[in-house]
Amino acid sequence: MPRSRRRLFQQLCNDAARCRACQRMTSRQAVLGPLNGTLTPKVLFIGEAPGRLGADRSRQPFSGDASGRNFETLLASVRLSREEVFITNAVLCCPADDQGNNPPTAAEIRNCLPFLQRTLELLRPPIVVTIGTVAMRAVTRLANRALGPAPGARLSDVAGRTIECGTFRWLPLYHPSPRVLHTVRTLAQQRADFKILSDLVG
Ligand code: SF4
Repeated sequence: MPRSRRRLFQQLCNDAARCRACQRMTSRQAVLGPLNGTLTPKVLFIGEAPGRLGADRSRQPFSGDASGRNFETLLASVRLSREEVFITNAVLCCPADDQGNNPPTAAEIRNCLPFLQRTLELLRPPIVVTIGTVAMRAVTRLANRALGPAPGARLSDVAGRTIECGTFRWLPLYHPSPRVLHTVRTLAQQRADFKILSDLVG
C-alpha cells in the first residue's frame, strides 16, 4: 500500500477528530482510525452511527453491542474477516443521549458526508455495502445520480440489488440491530442477503 494513502488516512482521522460541526456531538469523538480496518479493503461497509454501548466505547464500528455481535455473525457467515474489510459509519460521532441511541438527523448526515466521500476516494473499495436506511441515504447523496436509486427510494426497494456506481459496486442491505431483526428482516434472512455479497466478492 502506498505510504501516501496511510498519510492521507491519518490526515482524515485528524480532521474528523477535530470536527465539531454537529452541536449535540461536541463531547463525542469521531470513530475513525486503525480499528476501522484495512486501507486496501475488499469491501467497505457503511453503518448508521457509532452505538452508545458499542463503537462509542470500543472505538471500532459494529463492535461491543448486540448490533455488532450480529454483524460479526453475518461477516463470518461469508468467510470475511475484519482484517479484509473497512467498516465506517454515515455519521462518525455517536448521536446518543442518556436515554439511549438516537438516529442521526438529516443535517448531521449532511455534515458528515465530506468525511464519507474522502474515505471512499482514498480507499477506492471495489464493493460498498450500506447497512440500513441511513447509510443508504448517505450514499444516495454521493452516488452518480444517473446510476443510483432515486433520492426518495426506500431500503425495501433496493435491498439486495447490486448497483453499479462507477468506481464501485454498491449493495444496500439491512441493519442487524435487534429491532430490525425482530420487525423487518430476521437474522436468517440477513444471512441470505450476505450470500449475495459473498458471490460479489468471489
Ligand atoms: S458526526 Fe461527523 S460532521 Fe458531525 S461532528 Fe462528528 S465528525 Fe463532525
